Amino acid sequence: MQRCTLRSIPFYLGLLAGLGTLAGAARLRAEEPPPFQQLHCLKYAEGRIPIEALAPGAKPAGEIDVPMVICVARRPGQVIVLDAGYTDEEFGASWGIATWTDLTERLAELGVKPEQVDLVTISHLHWDHSGGTSRFPKARFVMQRRELEYAALDLPGNPFVKNGFRIDETIDALRLKWDGRLELVDGDALGWQPGLDLYLTPGHTAGTMTVCLDTIQGRVCYSSDAVYLYRNLAENLPLGIAVLPTEMFESYQKIRRVLRGGRLVPGHDMEIFRNAEKHGFRSVSDRVVAIVE
Ligand SMILES: [Zn+2]
Repeated sequence: MQRCTLRSIPFYLGLLAGLGTLAGAARLRAEEPPPFQQLHCLKYAEGRIPIEALAPGAKPAGEIDVPMVICVARRPGQVIVLDAGYTDEEFGASWGIATWTDLTERLAELGVKPEQVDLVTISHLHWDHSGGTSRFPKARFVMQRRELEYAALDLPGNPFVKNGFRIDETIDALRLKWDGRLELVDGDALGWQPGLDLYLTPGHTAGTMTVCLDTIQGRVCYSSDAVYLYRNLAENLPLGIAVLPTEMFESYQKIRRVLRGGRLVPGHDMEIFRNAEKHGFRSVSDRVVAIVE
């Protein structure tokens, strides 16, 4: 065995320096999070409403079951929730939504505690997507600047446009901004985080945001209410609530494009729970669907 002589010291120093460089490169790679490894969507309430309210012109007319949904994306070191849901059960009931259960209980089914959630993306400021921010005490939030400006400053007085907005969620968002927990993005943010793209897809509201994830099982986009039902996109049916109707159809086109052949999770389609396999998902239970696992 070679002994460590004075002459061999430079060699060992060189070796150590080389190892240091390798460790540095590995550390840099480790800081870049891997693709998302799990994505689940949860139904925490549901209602029965006329299909006209979601897709005017859909045939046959009649009532359909509508789920209230949040999704949970995970990779090592990161838990992201897509949309914050709502907590005001009574207000939900006034919209015909029943069987509400607390998000905390639903998250527990996935083994996730609310305080483990690092980031919540807010698709828009309607009550059923942004009324549950208080459930995520340690999370940061992200939404479109245009959505907050619209809800806070630019909402016209007419009840059709105001429908779905309440002052409570808008004030909560302003408070999160004040506390330094809300980041506002302007338009599309590709690679906002590695494997996480944010898109401005207005129409339903002025700043509705679609979130696309690169996962171990390909690309998945959560459009939230930029597309309520698969049928909105497949049959080019308008949304029941669209404050900017022209932009809504442009957003349909954009979502088709940014999907890049991946899978779509729309905002309120019971299909994802009842016909999970047809859409490339796996039904875990009546309330939970695995999109990526
Ligand atoms: Zn909405």
